[in-house]
Amino acid sequence: MRFDNKVAIITGGGSGIGRETCLKFAQEGAKVVVADYNEATGQETVDMIKAFGGEASFKRADVGDFEQVESLVNFASATYGRLDVMFNNAGIGATAPLLQHSPEMYHKVTRINQDGVYYGILAAGRKMQELGHGGTIINTASVMGFLASSNIFGYNVAKAAVVMMSQVAALELAPYHIRVVGVAPGFVHTNIVKGLKDRGMEDPIAQKHMHGEFLNSEQIADTVLFLASDAASGINGSTIKVDDGYASFK
Ligand code: NAD
Repeated sequence: MRFDNKVAIITGGGSGIGRETCLKFAQEGAKVVVADYNEATGQETVDMIKAFGGEASFKRADVGDFEQVESLVNFASATYGRLDVMFNNAGIGATAPLLQHSPEMYHKVTRINQDGVYYGILAAGRKMQELGHGGTIINTASVMGFLASSNIFGYNVAKAAVVMMSQVAALELAPYHIRVVGVAPGFVHTNIVKGLKDRGMEDPIAQKHMHGEFLNSEQIADTVLFLASDAASGINGSTIKVDDGYASFK
């Protein structure tokens, strides 16, 4: 039970990578705050945790709104008395060629995938400093934070920003014993990539992974738990690729 008596917030906890991470943290003893802007799916994750005797609460939050992220963090510390892990994971996709990538589309994706991570770092960093017990902040980037890809301009930009945010925040928060790290998945079977199959893109993309298939949420969640654990105390500011080699070959 690596996370007995620890408190973890997971944004985007109602689906995919976020849900799997919530379940694993709870299985390892953490008190989990499941955050999502979708109340029904977020509450479903809480019910799944309670069904095996774990401890969890749901808090609705749109990560693109700083006040909501601040009240999420306040809710976690008021409910459970501490905050050890903040997993800034919520995200959306946005696909269009650059010349059709409207300002609205750009701002929609960067508001959630980029500003949302900044708000999570800021709110959790302040709370962890105030509580004085240190902690770990983990941010979901993507292999698309390292590689340019057609048709996802805003997503590419936001994920690259997340890689740098983890580095800078790690530097500035180290004096408070707060580690900041990133996780950069390859393609993972979740709702966000469902449309690829209809467009005949799933197989060619799968082939870009060394085993020729998409990853699963469990593989990402396992890495997040490792990064949040004391065994990863030497990892700070890095973004770890969990991509089955996607970014390593062409
Ligand atoms: P998903 O769609 O299954 O889950 C995303 C969750 O985020 C959903 O529950 C959704 O309701 C929530 N969400 C979206 N906008 C929100 C907001 N403004 N506030 C709060 N919650 C919000 O997708 P996923 O694949 O699990 O995505 C999780 C993260 O992983 C995202 O940041 C995504 O960019 C990243 N990622 C995914 C893949 C992949 O192939 N699936 C690859 C690399 C990175």
